Order: sequence, then structure tokens, then C-alpha cells
Amino acid sequence: MTDRLAAPVQYVKGVGPARAEALESVGIRSVEDLIFHAPRRYVDRRHCSPISELREGEQVTVLGEVLTASVARGRKPRFLAKVSDGTGIIECVWFRGVPYVKNALRGGDLVVLSGKVGLYRGGVQIAHPEFEVLGSVEELSESGELPEDTLHAGGLIPIYPLTAELRSVGLASRGLRRIMRNALDELKEQVEDPLTDELIDRRELVSLAEALEGLHFPRSDEEAESARRRLAYEEFFFMELLLADRSRKIQRRPGTPFRTWGPLVREYLEGLDFSLTRAQQRVVAEVFEDMGSPYPMSRLLQGDVGCGKTVVAACVLLTAVEQGMQGALMAPTEILADQHARRLRDEFSRLDVKVHFLSSRLSGTERESVLRSLGSGTPSVAIGTHALIQHDVDFSALGAVVVDEQHRFGVLQRGELQAKGSDPDVLVMTATPIPRTLAMTLYGDLAVSVIDEMPPGRQPVETCRVPLTKREKVIERIGEVLADGKQVYWVFPLVEESEKSDLAAAVESYDWLRSGPLGNFRLGLVHGRLKPEEKDDVMKRFRDGEVDLLVSTTVIEVGVDIAGATMILVEHAERFGLAQLHQLRGRVGRGGGKATCVLLESEQLTEEGERRLAAMVETTDGFRIAEADLDIRGPGEFFGTRQHGLPDLRVANLITDQRLLGEAREDAFAALGVALDGSDPAEPSVPIEILDRWRMTLERRLGQRIVLADIA
Ligand code: ADP
Ligand code: MG
Repeated sequence: MTDRLAAPVQYVKGVGPARAEALESVGIRSVEDLIFHAPRRYVDRRHCSPISELREGEQVTVLGEVLTASVARGRKPRFLAKVSDGTGIIECVWFRGVPYVKNALRGGDLVVLSGKVGLYRGGVQIAHPEFEVLGSVEELSESGELPEDTLHAGGLIPIYPLTAELRSVGLASRGLRRIMRNALDELKEQVEDPLTDELIDRRELVSLAEALEGLHFPRSDEEAESARRRLAYEEFFFMELLLADRSRKIQRRPGTPFRTWGPLVREYLEGLDFSLTRAQQRVVAEVFEDMGSPYPMSRLLQGDVGCGKTVVAACVLLTAVEQGMQGALMAPTEILADQHARRLRDEFSRLDVKVHFLSSRLSGTERESVLRSLGSGTPSVAIGTHALIQHDVDFSALGAVVVDEQHRFGVLQRGELQAKGSDPDVLVMTATPIPRTLAMTLYGDLAVSVIDEMPPGRQPVETCRVPLTKREKVIERIGEVLADGKQVYWVFPLVEESEKSDLAAAVESYDWLRSGPLGNFRLGLVHGRLKPEEKDDVMKRFRDGEVDLLVSTTVIEVGVDIAGATMILVEHAERFGLAQLHQLRGRVGRGGGKATCVLLESEQLTEEGERRLAAMVETTDGFRIAEADLDIRGPGEFFGTRQHGLPDLRVANLITDQRLLGEAREDAFAALGVALDGSDPAEPSVPIEILDRWRMTLERRLGQRIVLADIA
């Protein structure tokens, strides 16, 4: 049976070479890939309203055929579609995302539409409906999938994600369902359930066979939901099994039990010109708890841009110094490391704590002097980029390390750090927040702290979308802001293939602005082609208020703190990732007071681009941005699950299924005898035959050989 699941999808009736190729383009290669390909959602036909009965203001779902679909001329370009369900006709209109809709929707399509009913020129209309194309009516009738009464028959319609490739081979939603039927009929009851009866009973799950039927051919909402829940549990279970296995293999080595809350830390905190937020206090306490224990700390600190993570870092570094050891702070870029160094040097000088700055740009003699000091064992703090963990840097007594990762995700080079010291305590800081259970899951043995509160007095950055064509208006506005003595960023994207032309765009805009509309102001330009010193020089002048408008490619992305900047413009905002946009927005409004983020967008938006920009306008909360990002990109892309060596999640949702994730984690860890609290592992609690079955399932899904619980 294993072979049947692993067999190429072409073995399924109705799938020839062309369809196999189209399926491969959405990641479906094997029969198993096909039957686990989950519908994006279900539409309940009983909840579809006849068009003749629609009333203004109602939120409705309509099923019908597209009669006409085209771009309409007028002052503002818009896309119009007329849809009929036999009882009446409704007009749909799009003002935004026109190019996207134009590609996705054609006359003759059977579609499901959802949205709010409006009235326009005596007829019913929905503006910007959500829509799903089920296939073309003609194809569907030819293949006998569209019986007369389809439009109004009851039941759930699964909606599968649709791409142009799938469409071109007749595998829109309905067509896909047909080959799904063939695949399930061929497999019948032969699919062996990888979960044990015990797990199925404990978590009240349905069997695999039932789940597959219920996923693709549900007769009710309940059936669809139990199917989804069972499959999601199974995906989580196997992911957690791998994580439990990794955890088994981690060696637990002793570290330094630090004395915490010493005089240096107290004096530092008392000297700040603000008092810690409650979240900061809690996190410092959590960190100190770890540092005081005899095991090395491995903690992840999450907190949105500007929430005040640096204070926590300072407490860690000072505690190392107090112990007569060294503390290191590693930042992802030179300018950020420099900023940390300046700030901490300033704050630590009154405590008489020495702060070294280590960068690849130090002169030979400067560098040697820093290295000598670090090697001599004088208690001190070292701040730098990756230069800190180069092989010739020798810490004589490295006690604690803080890694400021910004939005980069936790690929922590712990090995390299351990080699520098005798298992230093490690705190990783990130500004891309993810839910706690998730972080625990993905980082395995990392404990998680969250600063979920902003310092008092911060106002959310006001965010708006403006078409690139309205640039003149925007420039007028910039002029006003600059005249008011504020500073402005204007960021250009840097896309690899067209690196040259984008760079040219930034340079051109800079030249044009300087010689024309903003000629009265001081403009600066930074881009990736500048030498590092030149780049730093411009950034420093901006920081010191000697530059009013900074035109740049994305080099400013990471946490530079410039209090006077109150406005940021992002050119071609649709080309940026959501996390990146959120980071960019975090560059302004750091000095308190009102700040603005202007997203300049092109007319050519993809569906994803549209969703990203909409999310930016809707919220400034980093947690919600991260959730939206996860939702848009899918967990595989977001977390790089494959990079982490974890199986793909096709049914499970890391955000909405967190409770199920917790249960699966508990079960998987118990099965392998791994304690969740990090104490030493016991023997696996399931017999070897079961471990072996799980191993085979995992190998099939990961496409590689593995060793589970040290049983080859
Ligand atoms: P991030 O978490 O993005 O690294 P920072 O540590 O750089 O944030 O802090 C952002 C700004 O907020 C800094 O100027 C810092 O001095 C200030 N700040 C931090 N904590 C507080 C607080 N509790 N009250 C007021 N201001 C604070
Ligand atoms: Mg920071």
C-alpha cells in the first residue's frame, strides 16, 4: 500500500502526461500528494442566494455563470463582470487589482462570489467581491460534471486553489474533484492508517479513510471539519515526532549559574530616563531566571519594532560583566552594530563598563587592540557584526551572547558561539513575532519571551496607499513635511534581475528631486553599490539631522533609530514582502508624535500584492502582520519548513489549529519518551513496529532516509 501512495500521480485514472505536468506545478507529484491536496474552503450551496432575491446591504454568496467580463473605460479604469444564475443578473465591479481580476475571470466561467450587495443604476451590484472560479461551464457540461440542477442543488462544494496551469488542462476545482474520486476509489480501504488506535481514540479522530472521503466529498460541515481536524492532527504529529527526535539527540551541558540583579544592573536601570514597561520587567525576570540556573540559557525574545528589546539585552550583558566575564552583542549589519555600540557605550560609561566595537572595517591596529583586550579576560562588552564570531576572535571568558536578528528567522549559529566560550547563555531577539506555541515548536529547545506592550505615548503610524501615478501630489506633501523641520525616508525596491534599472530609478529620482521640486532641501542617497564607508557616512549625516530626505534602496531596512524621521515612502510597495514593509514602517514614529507611511503602488498588482498592501493599511500590530504574512505566503514559505527539514503542512494551519498542535506535540513527545520540560529523555513508549511504521511514513513524506529514536 505504501507503494500505491508513493506512485506518480499519472497512475490515477484521468491523469495523462499533460495533467501530470500541470499538477506537478502545484507540488503534486505522487498519489499521496494528490489525496492530501486540501480544498481552500467549502461553499455551501444551500447558503447561496438566488440573485433575484438579493437585497441591498446583505452579505451574500452567489453561484452563477459569468456572462461578460471586461475592463470598462472611464475616468477611472475598472473591471466589470455580469453574472447570471438563471434567476437574475448581478454586476460585479473592481476598481483596484484590475490586472489580476482580468486574468482570473472570463466569460463562460462558473463562479462563486461573496460580498456585500449594493445598488447601482437600478440593478444589484457587488464591489470587490471575493470570487472562486470552478471551471468553464462548457468544459464542465461536456465532461458531465454539470447536471441541470447544479446551480441550486444542495451540498458542499470544495474549492481548490486554482492556477492558470491547472485551468488549461481542465483541472479547475470541479475537474480536480473528478480525478480525486478516481484516486480514492482505486485506493479504497487499502490505505493503512499511520496513527495508532490509541491516538485516534484519545483525540477522538476519524480514520484516515473517512478523513480523505470527508475532505473531498463532505456531505455536511461536520464531516468536512472532522476530516480536516484528523488530517491536521496527523501532519502536526509527524512534524512534532521529528522535533521530539531532535530534542532527544541534543546534549545537555552545564553552563554558568550567574548571580543576577547585581549592582551594575540596578544602577543601569535606575539611570534610565524612563521606567520599564510591565512587559519589559517580566521579560528581564524570565531571562534572569534562566541565567541563574546551572544550564545555559537558550531563549528567544520576541517584540515588535520599537518595543524596547535593547534594555533587556543590556541587562544580559551587564550580568555577564558582573560575573567577571564578557558579554557579546551581535547585530546583522554594520550600521546597527554601530548604533548599539554608541548607545550602550554612552549608557555604560557611567557604570565604568568598557564597550568594544568589532567590525570588519577597523584598522589593523585598532582591531588588534580589541582582540588583545578580549583575549586578556578583562570583563567587558563586545558589540559587532558577524565579525564577532570569526575564527581569530578569542574571548577568554565569554559568559553571555545576545543575537539581535531583527526580522531574520532563528537560524542561530549556536555551534560557532559555543566554540567561542564554555557554553555561553544565549538570547536571540527578533522583531517578527509569532505565537508562543509555534515558536516553541519551531525552535524546539528555545524558551520564548514576549514583549507585548509598547512604551507609553507611542502613536500608531498612519498608513496609506497611493498610486505611483499620483507622485506629484506626494512630493508636494513631502515638501510640507520637510519645511516643518522633519525628516523623510524614500525607499526603492531592489529586485535582483532588474537590479540595474531599480538602482537607476533611485538615482534618477534623487537627481530629479534635487534639481527640481525639493531643491531647497538637503538630500542624501544610499544604495548597495556604495562603499560601506560611503553608506555609513550618509546614514550618519541623516542621523545627525544634516540630511532632510534620504533616498535609498532597502539598505535602511534594519532597526536604525532616527527620532526626527516622521515619514517614510515606499516606492513599488507591492514588490516588498509583508515583514519587510512592517520593518520599514517601524523606521518612523520612534520619537513619539505622529508619523506617516506612504505605500506607493503600481497598477499591476498580483492577488498577493493586493493582500499584503491591504494588511499594512489594516493594522500596525506586528503579531497580526505576521499572521497575515503566514496566511498569504503559507507556512512552508514563511518559516522555510523545508529548510528546517520539516514536512510540508497542507491541511493544518499553524495559527488557527494551535490547540491541535499542542496536543500533537504532547503525544509525539510522549511516544518518543522525550519530556516537554527539557529533562533527560526516557525510552520510547511505543513498540518498535510502530516506530518503524512512523519512520516509513516520514521518509515517504520527506523524501529522505531518517533514523528515528536511534532505531535504524
Ligand atoms: P527595539 O525593540 O525595536 O530594539 P529599542 O530597544 O531600540 O526597540 O527601543 C526603542 C526606543 O524606545 C528607544 O529609543 C528606547 O530608548 C525607548 N524605550 C525603550 N523602553 C522604553 C520604556 N519603557 N519607556 C519609554 N521609552 C522606552
Ligand atoms: Mg532593536
